[in-house]
Amino acid sequence: MLMVNPRIIAKVKVKDTDESTGIRGRTLNVQVRNGQSFDTPSKPVVIKDFKAKARNPHYRGKLPGDLAVLPEYIEGRIFEEYLHENGRVNKIHRDLSQYSDSSSFMVNVPSLQMKPINPGKSIAMVTLKMQLDVPTLSGICMPLLEASAADYGKALEYWIKMSDECGKMCVPQISVSEDVPTFEAKLDNITELSKTGAVSMVDVVYGDPRKFRHQYGMLWEKRNELEAIVHCSKAPAKGDRVCDYMNTHPVYDMLLYGIDSMSAPRSPPRPFFPKKDCTEVADIEKYEWADQGTASMILGNHWESVDGGHLTCSCPICRGRSQSEIVETYSRKTDGCIDQSAMKDVSLIHDHLSFTEELGPIRKRIKGHDMAGYRKGKIDARNKFISSASFGDIRQFPKRRS
Ligand SMILES: [Zn+2]
Repeated sequence: MLMVNPRIIAKVKVKDTDESTGIRGRTLNVQVRNGQSFDTPSKPVVIKDFKAKARNPHYRGKLPGDLAVLPEYIEGRIFEEYLHENGRVNKIHRDLSQYSDSSSFMVNVPSLQMKPINPGKSIAMVTLKMQLDVPTLSGICMPLLEASAADYGKALEYWIKMSDECGKMCVPQISVSEDVPTFEAKLDNITELSKTGAVSMVDVVYGDPRKFRHQYGMLWEKRNELEAIVHCSKAPAKGDRVCDYMNTHPVYDMLLYGIDSMSAPRSPPRPFFPKKDCTEVADIEKYEWADQGTASMILGNHWESVDGGHLTCSCPICRGRSQSEIVETYSRKTDGCIDQSAMKDVSLIHDHLSFTEELGPIRKRIKGHDMAGYRKGKIDARNKFISSASFGDIRQFPKRRS
């Protein structure tokens, strides 16, 4: 166990909000107790990123980040086991300990993926204690509660007090899929607590913005008052489908609702089976490659067909190289085969690195009240990409071989 003082947020201040049009975003300045500070929007490092890096020794660089969000899957059968407080609680505690050690130089908090629990039942105390017992965690997650707005407020007060005594932050969860009055009351409560510094981060469980327009509208209304990082958990890993080979990158749209950070759901635990090796780039099974230039995710095995220098990334994985060169560096084995799992891992690391780089320009555009212009630039680039001749080719010949 590393003996490190966890990074605790000291103060969150709203820095800029883009109020110019219906397309918007905000930046926060987050001061950490050890004297560090960072601005949002932020790309948190998640467990998947740590795993991908650990599995790929060819990438020796760091995973940059100020914030780590550690999702724990406690759903279905695992939730039943968890309720019985058997070895499952210890397992999750061990997992959190492992990944909070890896992320101890960042503000690191868990995000518990479970259905609402009753704050008066022993399971609530087990959940609180399990997290307080992890020394390198900056904060604990207060999961969704089966409680009225008033009882929620009382429980939150208690969880904050307990966390405080252990030198940790309390990150309450709320869900946009709750009914509008309940969501509003809980959000009001959290907003007031954010002004005193009692809450400096909130975990908003994702729901489709098209379905929960009012709830997202309320979040945006609080943009200048809510002095806490609004993290959206369980957000989809893929955005809207643009064409056969392309989906929008999901993060970009969420920024417009005043979301400061986002993470995808964690899948149920299962043994890791490496994918079978292949020999051609076009045969690498479904892996997606984030392209920040067009704010999209492109099915990776089609990049070979569109390599033409018009899609380049300067992140430490890509360094301006073509997809085929990246395959050679990170996943071509000595026997000539391509390690498919390595390519998937590398695509995750590239997504983290390239999106982290993209956040600089995003913050500038928010400051300049020009998120609308930023968004238009991405959509124009995407349309140009789709209509490009080479992309037309791969529609006809998805498995071009060299
Ligand atoms: Zn890259």
